[in-house]
Amino acid sequence: MSVLVVGSIALDTVKTPVEEHADLLGGSASYAAVGASFFGPVNFVGVVGDDFPSEHIEFLRGRQINLEGLQTVPGKTFRWSGEYMWDLNTRETRSVELNVFEHFNPTLPARYTDTPYVLLANIAPKLQSHVLDQMQRPRFVIADTMDLWINIAKDDLTALLSRVDLLILNDSEARQFTGETSLIRAGARIRKLGPKYVAIKKGEHGCLLFGQDQFFSCGAYPLEDIHDPTGAGDTFAGGLAGYLASRGGEVVTFDDLRRGVVYGSVLASFNVEAFSLERLRTLTQNDIDERYSMFRLMSQFEML
Ligand code: AMP
Repeated sequence: MSVLVVGSIALDTVKTPVEEHADLLGGSASYAAVGASFFGPVNFVGVVGDDFPSEHIEFLRGRQINLEGLQTVPGKTFRWSGEYMWDLNTRETRSVELNVFEHFNPTLPARYTDTPYVLLANIAPKLQSHVLDQMQRPRFVIADTMDLWINIAKDDLTALLSRVDLLILNDSEARQFTGETSLIRAGARIRKLGPKYVAIKKGEHGCLLFGQDQFFSCGAYPLEDIHDPTGAGDTFAGGLAGYLASRGGEVVTFDDLRRGVVYGSVLASFNVEAFSLERLRTLTQNDIDERYSMFRLMSQFEML
């Protein structure tokens, strides 16, 4: 079954303590859609300017990603630039040029409106809600967000939550949103605002998943060489959404979500091994399956 992915499409400039690369394919929707595409078809919604390189369009199209919902409008593509500190965990945004993204109005092609699984990748919560307004009756809706929206659009984000099945956010965002120090309390408080499930990402320390009286903790893959952490969260969300769609069940169970969180973590762990989406270009099903098995081995232990 298909996943609808909406979010940003960007040309990123990324600096780490050892390398800097400019004008890379980026954006929350690009990472999320490619992550999901390892599991099945994707209906893509986003906007680019007329400067967007055609090779990126060909790459997305080559991955079963339906681009009917991609708007190309006169002007420049959204540009973002970030710099990572030596721990590759702390990041500073160096510049943001909204360009055509400033007036993005996600309009769904008629054929997208009955897509069963929806991933609202990181964009303004008002736009995420606007996408849901156009959907018929999705089976499962996942939303991602970022600190910016908690700072400047908290009411819109809170309004969105009652329409979402799973909210994904990182640890600092969960604390910022709820004012709770404990992530366990934060997860429970966010669930009370609407989503049946909440996933709190902890970067290199894995992810926590909360449901009603249900809890799952997934570690992160022990990588020695991280080249570019950009888009790890979006790839995680894409892999998770893609896996759920590939299951295609009427109801998404907590067990489905546990496996989805592991698949998301597998994809994110590959993504950070190279800049932009480079690692995902060569990733195979076999690579994914092997690392999934490694995750399983790493988290198993015997009964006393
Ligand atoms: P992440 O590393 O998961 O935070 O995602 C990084 C991606 O988010 C980059 O490729 C950026 O182009 C994109 N991005 C940065 N700021 C924004 C924003 N305000 N809205 C949407 N996408 C953004």
